[in-house]
Order: sequence, then structure tokens, then C-alpha cells
Amino acid sequence: MADKNRDPVVVIGLGRFGTALALELTRRGTEVLAIDNSRKTVQQLSGQITHVAQADSTDMEALRQLGVPDFYRAVVAIGTDLEASILTAALLAELEIEDIWAKAVSKQHGQILNRIGVHHVVFPENDMGERVAHLVSGRMLDYMEVEENFAMAKTRPPKEYVGVPLGRSNLRRKHGVTIVAVKSPGVDFTYATADTELSYGDVIIVSGSVEAVERFAELP
Ligand code: ADP
Repeated sequence: MADKNRDPVVVIGLGRFGTALALELTRRGTEVLAIDNSRKTVQQLSGQITHVAQADSTDMEALRQLGVPDFYRAVVAIGTDLEASILTAALLAELEIEDIWAKAVSKQHGQILNRIGVHHVVFPENDMGERVAHLVSGRMLDYMEVEENFAMAKTRPPKEYVGVPLGRSNLRRKHGVTIVAVKSPGVDFTYATADTELSYGDVIIVSGSVEAVERFAELP
């Protein structure tokens, strides 16, 4: 169905993750149909999200009555109740929703969701745990794994790179990382160029393999 409007999103399960997602989509102007089987949750959120409905998402008839088959995109945000998560995702696949997203609470859960036809599986708790580990145990100010072996980190410049134009620093050859952007105190981030000279007090965005970024962020 190429003529489906791709913008509206169905969000199923309004726990912490689903609620944050539905509210953020709404704030960004996206039309949201949010579904949860808890009456209390639905009452709390009505008025804040375009459409909020109380229904059991493992019931095909209920999904049809709410018009779910007309949507291009849906997110299964149920985590704790694995059975409900898997059954809901399977029904969305049966309805041939073109773009199905689901949250998984474990690797196995994610594998099952993939097998039954979910297009994008996300691991919010796991990803956040990994990210916070980098912040808690090292000197990074922020960290994001873009793919399994590619990361970006916000950190401070190591001593040996202060006052040297990046073009002459041999950074890529020596450490396998690229400095993407630099922020000096009181000004915005700017893209790093070959002429950029880092100063103490700067904050930098560095990218490269996970290992290279981790090692670079540990340099004194
Ligand atoms: P979080 O960890 O993000 O808080 P939870 O898995 O705890 O996520 O929350 C899931 C939400 O999904 C709850 O609000 C729950 O009422 C809802 N839910 C669970 N099963 C169903 C179902 N079969 N149909 C609709 N909503 C459901």
C-alpha cells in the first residue's frame, strides 16, 4: 500500500519507554495512536497524546477496530510481558505493517522479534547501561555506539594534542580516530579542520572503532 501516510505512528504499551516515545513524537508534531490495556494509564495520558485507546494488543479484532492496519509504522513498547510483546508483534506482522519497531529486554527476546518479522529491534535498557558504563568508569562526557563497532564520544583533548593543528597531529594513523567537532568554553561546537588547534578546556567529539575511541579517551 504505497499510498499510506508514513507519518502517523501506533505505539503499543505505555510503560516508561512507550510513554516517553509517544509524548516525544506528539511534541514533534507526529500523529500518534497509543494503545495500552490499562485503563488507569490510558486515562492519565488522554489529552497529552492525539489518540489514546484502551485495548488488548494481543487481540486481532481490537487492533482492526482501532484501525491499526491502516498505519505504515508501529512500535511495540511492551517489555516486561514477553508473551504480550511477541504476540502483538506477530499480529502486526500478520497485518503486514510495513515498518515494525519493537523494544527487547534481552538478546533472545530480540532474536524472536526479528524472526517473527519485526524490522527494527531496540534494546533501550541494554544500550543505556553500556553508555553509562563508559561515563561512569572513564573520562568520557558522553558516548554513543553508532553500530556494533563504530562509536562517537564526547571527551577532553589529551595533553599531547593541545596546541598542535589537527592536520599535523597524525591522530588517525596513531590512534585510528577522527576528531569531528570541537567546542571551546562559551561557544558552540564547530567542525574540526586540519587547521584546528585544540586548547585545554575544549570539549571534542571523536569517532572511530569502539576500541580506538575507548583507548583515545583514556589518554592523559
Ligand atoms: P517499561 O519498562 O518501558 O515501563 P513495561 O513493559 O513495564 O515497559 O510496560 C508495558 C506497558 O504495556 C504497560 O503499560 C502495560 O499495561 C502494557 N501492556 C502489557 N500487555 C499489554 C497488552 N496485551 N495490550 C496492551 N498493552 C499491554
